[in-house]
Amino acid sequence: MTNIDQKDKFEHLVFDNSFTRELPGDPETANYRRQVTNAHYSRVRPAKVSAPTLLSFSEETAELLDLSVNTCTSSRFNDVFSGNALLQGMDPYAMCYGGHQFGNWAGQLGDGRAINLGEIINKRNERWVLQLKGAGATPYSRNADGLAVLRSSLREYVCSESMFHLGVPTTRALSLIVTGDPVERDMFYDGHPQEEPGAIVCRVAPSFIRFGNFEIHSARGELEALKRLVDYTIKTSFPHLGEPATDTYIRLFEEVCTSTLDMVIHWMRVGFVHGVMNTDNMSILGQTIDYGPYGWLEGYDPDWTPNTTDRMGRRYCFGNQPKIAQWNLSQLANALYPLVNDAAPFEKALQRYSINFKKQYLAMTGAKLGIREVAEHTDQPLFDELYTLLQLTETDMTIFFRDLAAFDRQKMATGKAFEPTALPFYNAYYNPTQINDDYWQRLQKWLQMYAKRLQNEGMPSSERHERMNRVNPKYVLRNYLAQLAIDAAEQGDGSLVTELLDVMRQPYKDQPDKEQYAQKRPEWARNRPGCSMLSCSS
Ligand code: AMP
Ligand code: MG
Repeated sequence: MTNIDQKDKFEHLVFDNSFTRELPGDPETANYRRQVTNAHYSRVRPAKVSAPTLLSFSEETAELLDLSVNTCTSSRFNDVFSGNALLQGMDPYAMCYGGHQFGNWAGQLGDGRAINLGEIINKRNERWVLQLKGAGATPYSRNADGLAVLRSSLREYVCSESMFHLGVPTTRALSLIVTGDPVERDMFYDGHPQEEPGAIVCRVAPSFIRFGNFEIHSARGELEALKRLVDYTIKTSFPHLGEPATDTYIRLFEEVCTSTLDMVIHWMRVGFVHGVMNTDNMSILGQTIDYGPYGWLEGYDPDWTPNTTDRMGRRYCFGNQPKIAQWNLSQLANALYPLVNDAAPFEKALQRYSINFKKQYLAMTGAKLGIREVAEHTDQPLFDELYTLLQLTETDMTIFFRDLAAFDRQKMATGKAFEPTALPFYNAYYNPTQINDDYWQRLQKWLQMYAKRLQNEGMPSSERHERMNRVNPKYVLRNYLAQLAIDAAEQGDGSLVTELLDVMRQPYKDQPDKEQYAQKRPEWARNRPGCSMLSCSS
């Protein structure tokens, strides 16, 4: 690439490319599809695009990288974050990894359309890896093109930033750039390919290492490569665990179990369904990574998945996520095993995952209900009954919990009869005519139990209200909202992206002029592709 040139605006960026410096790379530098062995990455240049246009950038992520608004709106920024230009200090590469897809070992996958540009050390001495998604083919692209379309790029860009503001561990996104080049996709794999606008997201994370990065070396018996990657990961991302050694490897695994569980508990709290929890989509840092056919629960339904590719098995549906994360962790354990040669510590950590899951899930549900100290024995039945009730008639999860904060336990205690329309969360029902006698009796019984429970808790209702509002978001990136932003962006209008990003900055705060973004899914969106049905085609 000829235009390696820092120019004024990016001069201050300090690159420290530890991954390519400390780990062995693929000696082959030509860009063709291949199996890459005994190496962690292949150097590769991003493809050129014809007319990069910035649709949006995230001010918060820019700040992490010490980039000013001026810089982010410069034409130079477009060139760099579309892959048309490299900055001094960048050393682009694609990572080699494998993975279990839908429960089966899939062999080598790798960054087929992600190109890491380099690692920045910011003013606060934090390490941030910059990665372009959709910047062209790499040795890992297999039979695909290395590109990404606007709709999926927009979904990743807005959702990852929304997740950050919701307090869910996640990779970040710096920019969303439309390339000016068309990309052909068969959205539902039904023989109707269409041209769509191409786009590139710049993702940012302290590390993009996945479970699959370890699995590939273990599966191939490349123990030296495995050890080097594990040691590198400990040194760069887990220095507090100490010098690499057998017990450090175990502590690493324990810590990944903890952070992965934390992440999944957050998903369950906010109603997020990842959609493709393959082991190549599991970050070693316990961050949500690879936003593809993800979705947000509308009606509460543990069986729901937005991913049409998974409609039959529902392996990755909402309710399965905690146990799938554990299954994925057991694959990571298998991958690390040759460094420890003792299964017991891994089994123990996986058992602890189950115990902690139960505890944390109870605590999380308690928090959503305004209960500080959960007593498993008595609270479990209360919570179970609620989760059952939420499924008996289509009930919007986000609105239900948010509006439950206004529940008046004293009024309930008077025992006076009232109509469903008087419920503070009446608006959460998609079809109020489904509230039949049976349901209504059962719900009232639950509300009485809940009122009693709150009375025992003894928290002033204003405090409970405030606490509940801190864990029950008012705004989430509802599936149809992302689709509306896509429809507009495909017509060249990025304003809804900006607007959504703005609303999702404060998801726990009532924003009276933004009520429209807190509404339940309109009927037109119930079965519209992109709103309720998504495929892996992106
Ligand atoms: P995903 O299901 O998106 O996590 O992707 C699984 C694997 O397929 C990863 O190795 C991706 O890099 C690769 N992949 C997905 N889409 C493309 C594409 N358009 N071009 C090249 N590789 C891709
Ligand atoms: Mg992936």
